[in-house]
Amino acid sequence: MASEISNDQDFSKPGFHLLPAKPGTCQECAVAHDPAQPHNQQSLYYQYHFYADHNRWPTWEDAIAHCTEEVQNYWIEALAKQGVSVKNKCSKGGNKCSN
Ligand SMILES: [Zn+2]
Repeated sequence: MASEISNDQDFSKPGFHLLPAKPGTCQECAVAHDPAQPHNQQSLYYQYHFYADHNRWPTWEDAIAHCTEEVQNYWIEALAKQGVSVKNKCSKGGNKCSN
């Protein structure tokens, strides 16, 4: 009798569970990065992790939200050079948030 390969995991169930991020990596995006640096917005782990908490997909703005303004501005500029525009409520160039 040939037995079919059985899968214990039922991927058809609604919802999903992420495996914990590897030790030594960021628990939000599963990438080893300096906590002062942005999460990897391209990381699927980050995207699903964020989606589970916020019910929407993360943007670069979310990925850099925890960084200092200096680091944020650095990344906003670096991403702009890659053609990625990051909406930020604080416009750079010395302008402070109006609200
Ligand atoms: Zn991260």
